[in-house]
Amino acid sequence: MTVLTTGGVALPACQRWETDIVATIGGTPLVALDRLFPPERFRVHAKCERFNPGGSIKDRAAKSMIEHALRTGRLVPGMSTVVESSSGNLGIALAQLCNFYRLNLICVVDPRTTAQNMAIMRAYGARVEVVEQRDPATGEFLPVRLARVQSHLASIPDAYWPNQYANEHNARAHHATMREICEALPGGPDYLFLAAGTCGTLRGCAEYIRDHELATRVVAVDAAGSVIFGPPEPWERSHRRTIPGHGAAVSPPLLQPGLADRVMKVTDADCVRGCRRLLAEESILAGGSSGAVVAALDRAASWLEPNVTCVALLPDGGDRYLDTIYSDPWVESRFPGLSPHDHDQERSEP
Ligand code: PMP
Repeated sequence: MTVLTTGGVALPACQRWETDIVATIGGTPLVALDRLFPPERFRVHAKCERFNPGGSIKDRAAKSMIEHALRTGRLVPGMSTVVESSSGNLGIALAQLCNFYRLNLICVVDPRTTAQNMAIMRAYGARVEVVEQRDPATGEFLPVRLARVQSHLASIPDAYWPNQYANEHNARAHHATMREICEALPGGPDYLFLAAGTCGTLRGCAEYIRDHELATRVVAVDAAGSVIFGPPEPWERSHRRTIPGHGAAVSPPLLQPGLADRVMKVTDADCVRGCRRLLAEESILAGGSSGAVVAALDRAASWLEPNVTCVALLPDGGDRYLDTIYSDPWVESRFPGLSPHDHDQERSEP
């Protein structure tokens, strides 16, 4: 085995030696999901984004947006304040980056953000603000969070809003995500299943696929009730989204027509079931949107061509969902009778 010597320490070639923690963002592993999806039909590989140092795919977006603002002088270490609205993972990623680059951070969250996520952001030195009221017109928290961001921008000198929903550097971060997949699977997979929120992942991966003329088809997984890809269908309207990450109350400016070859909508119950299956079969403790992607793959089994190769992007780990998705009392109170066997009763697409 080749041995690299760095700083007098001998390392096997397979180990990474980076200059700092920020440099460890990206390069996440691909893991075969052969137990969950037996490879005789089609193959699924999961790209496990929890291996990023901040624990989620949003490390990539935060790094890309913050480093661009630093490069262009929009952010000045020791002076500037970053203000952002986040459901959790971007907030944690920004808190990590802002602490590293000596920037202040105010993160505006809503009551769906867990106490643990807020504690992590605060541990990195962020100021966390929770908006308690939903927007009366839409019933969503997002407009209220964005209004709070605007009021900070108006009152704090040298404040900067990355605006993850519209920032091209959020999307550009994911050229690398797709490049890494293609390095592992030359020519790219036949299908890429990803969860959509700001659509940064969707836009970045789709751009890479287009620019490299890959045949990979993109399946965007969205939450029932979300408006990202248009108004909800009648069956979705009564569905109130409680699992953060995927889905949005607005159609993000980053979204462009034709990025996704197919959109699949999943309910919160689907997410829970997908997460539980991923844990039971593969011993992967993953977050809610990963469960959404697994649920979509489960359903896609009916139309996927034989022997295709799929990559499932798993955006974060399950540690941040122990009080919800992995709590039996929580699941029982929200989805009474949910079990791995009742899939058809809670079918989320007509
Ligand atoms: N899953 C999780 C857990 C997330 O935190 C996010 C980001 N909100 C997404 C999926 C969606 O990713 P994107 O914002 O790139 O669309």
